[in-house]
Amino acid sequence: MDLLDTLTAKGLRGEVPTREEALAVLATTDDELLDVVAAAGKVRRRWFGRRVKLNYLVNLKSGLCPEDCSYCSQRLGSKAEILKYTWLKPDQAADAARAGVAGGAKRVCLVASGRGPTDRDIDRVTDTMAAIKDADPEVEICVCLGLLSDNQAERLKAAGADAYNHNLNTSENTYGTITKTHTYADRVDTVQKAHGAGLSACSGLIAGMGESDEDLVDVVFALRELGSDSVPVNFLIPFEGTPLAKEWNLTPQRCLRILAMVRFVNPDTEVRIAGGREVHLRSMQPLGLHIANSIFLGDYLTSEGQAGQTDLDMIKDAGFEVEGAGEATLPRHRADVAEAAQAGHASGGCGSAASACGSGGGCGPCGGHAHAPSAPAGEASEASDDELRGDLVKVRRRGAGTELAPNA
Ligand code: SF4
Repeated sequence: MDLLDTLTAKGLRGEVPTREEALAVLATTDDELLDVVAAAGKVRRRWFGRRVKLNYLVNLKSGLCPEDCSYCSQRLGSKAEILKYTWLKPDQAADAARAGVAGGAKRVCLVASGRGPTDRDIDRVTDTMAAIKDADPEVEICVCLGLLSDNQAERLKAAGADAYNHNLNTSENTYGTITKTHTYADRVDTVQKAHGAGLSACSGLIAGMGESDEDLVDVVFALRELGSDSVPVNFLIPFEGTPLAKEWNLTPQRCLRILAMVRFVNPDTEVRIAGGREVHLRSMQPLGLHIANSIFLGDYLTSEGQAGQTDLDMIKDAGFEVEGAGEATLPRHRADVAEAAQAGHASGGCGSAASACGSGGGCGPCGGHAHAPSAPAGEASEASDDELRGDLVKVRRRGAGTELAPNA
């Protein structure tokens, strides 16, 4: 197929496809799906070999958020029966992080619900990072706290944070339909400021919120332009008790096409399969590993994933290997750019602030309803009303905030 030959050739050179080519990936048929996965797989292996980076989520503060992100089980007014608790103590968070690292995670993602942290919250996270790095100085730490005020990004960087997560989630065009309490521009500003402070930018999307193919392509190109080093691809988890509980728009085939499109637009960027992996890819998860080079190990923020050992077995059975602590995630040319930016910051000082929190792989389902997802002609790429699969959503009842051991 000319399209896939073109996309492969561009991806192997690290070039970004045209918008039309990206849209064409989403419009491929089920008959073409394995060819799409194989083409994206060539690009993935060119830049990331057969390595899979494992990331581990620690939900520092769960629920009780004043923001109204429609996809999120922690939102204002959410009736989802999730765990609700305020800030974990540093040693509690460090215990959870240690379990993830022992399970093979290279990066720990510290996430707290809320519009943004107070300066006291930055102190708490600083203490938590110190406790984690005391036990394992090599572990990467990504922080996700929402909107940052002036100098908070710099404080996190100085305290040892490696990255900051703040997802764009969806296109600028539809953002206002999923959240009213902050704007798309707030989120862009946040990513830029975190990056400017010398933190590696982690920013991604949520698919399955009723968006169009054009919306998906828009947000993925926006992430590329922002210079996100890692792109988490969340698939909406339609939690009961949230506005998007009935938005079962995804099939495993659709998820693979979305992952492939993200890979072609971000050939040399970490692409992570984030929240909703088990719920929507289901038995097709191993095919996702041929496209993405990163996943979360174990559970998500408010929902449970499959057992950590099952993740590890899947990686091995599919012929991939867990990325080690001493291995660079990004290709050298990308890592050089990131290091130069960080060095420039260290000697100068810049940026600040971020914005309202992203889903970090678990904040969940979508909201707002934009347009109906656009399916290829004659093909049902969305679930119908009689295919609501609430039985697949398992609220987290173990790990951080409970007496039970974490899943890792
Ligand atoms: S995504 Fe973050 S800011 Fe939005 S409701 Fe959820 S926890 Fe709050």
